[in-house]
Amino acid sequence: MTPLAEKIVNLIQQTGPLKISDYFALCLADPDHGYYQRREPFGQSGDFITAPEISQLFGEMIGVFLVQAWQAQGAPEKTRIVEIGPGRGTLMSDALRVIARLAPDLYADATIHMVETSERLRNVQRQTLVRIKQRISWHHAVEDLPAGFTLIVANELFDALPIRQFVKTPEGFCERVVGLDDGGNLAFGLAPGGFDTTLLPIEAGRVPNGEVFEASPARSAVMQAVAAQILRDGGTALTIDYGHLVTGFGDTLQAVHQHEFDPPLARPGEADLTSHVDFQVLAEVAREAGAHVHRPMTQGDFLLRLGILERAGALGAGRDSLTQATISDAVNRLAGEGEGRMGALFKVLAVSGKPVGITPFDPQAA
Ligand code: SAH
Repeated sequence: MTPLAEKIVNLIQQTGPLKISDYFALCLADPDHGYYQRREPFGQSGDFITAPEISQLFGEMIGVFLVQAWQAQGAPEKTRIVEIGPGRGTLMSDALRVIARLAPDLYADATIHMVETSERLRNVQRQTLVRIKQRISWHHAVEDLPAGFTLIVANELFDALPIRQFVKTPEGFCERVVGLDDGGNLAFGLAPGGFDTTLLPIEAGRVPNGEVFEASPARSAVMQAVAAQILRDGGTALTIDYGHLVTGFGDTLQAVHQHEFDPPLARPGEADLTSHVDFQVLAEVAREAGAHVHRPMTQGDFLLRLGILERAGALGAGRDSLTQATISDAVNRLAGEGEGRMGALFKVLAVSGKPVGITPFDPQAA
């Protein structure tokens, strides 16, 4: 048993089974043994690899998008450039290099803000961005950001925020919980009640028994705070993650350890724990808050429309064939479809404080 598994077993013995959301939060953020406090998640020696760690092209395309969002909204002075859940700080570093080149005025008087809960990752970010560290401030929550026109990016943040799961049974919906089996090991169970059926995309009576529905008040709360920030003094928020554009059913809770899927109860604190993001819910939360929702698209379409192929060509021009092959592999992985590629599985949602057309999104609201 991992040290966190022992702690969770003790907790369950004292207070009873945990909701999936409580188990999820302990696995990722327990102050002593939480995954993001302890482990180095990213890269070959870690557990998974994210788009900005695959290639500088990803952060560069985000930089291009942020410049376009800024220009489309009148190029305001003293912009806040914000990243939520910045990991190693690689995306911000690559995006800022492009912003400095394409929009020196934006770069010159912008302040940089990192919303990050992990102290260990804040230190990694400080090292990655050491050249500009005096321009950066770190915050615990979106609500702590200063006022002002704001450009926000969050890559693979929402998948790391806890979900609750509900299972349809002949007696109605029950909440999935983590309890103990006869041997005292962590095991899934069901607890009656506690479900708001108005969240369902179809009538509760038509949902087959055994079907799983996921809801995430934590994700909605972060989206509400993001919408409030860009509604206050204007701005745009971009979020990228794996998930679905339309609310559906299915158990998407997943643990990953050293690049392999792992049973979600096997290694609390030592495996990454995530689930697929419901972009329809995030879009509705933003819309209800009064924000303008740009029609979401796949990561593949987003990167291709922003010109990743042209940028890759420029990056590879005059370089040796191995470097060129590495660049072309990266483009395939980021924008291509199929096994091991992110282009179709990952979706991109942008929301703005006011209705505005921003390339590469359609000008009209979704
Ligand atoms: N964006 C990075 C890292 C993704 S991993 C990349 O693409 O490589 C998720 C990141 O979100 C980590 O930095 C983690 O510490 C951070 N995180 C998790 N929960 C958070 C929360 N509630 N608020 C802010 N950051 C959070």
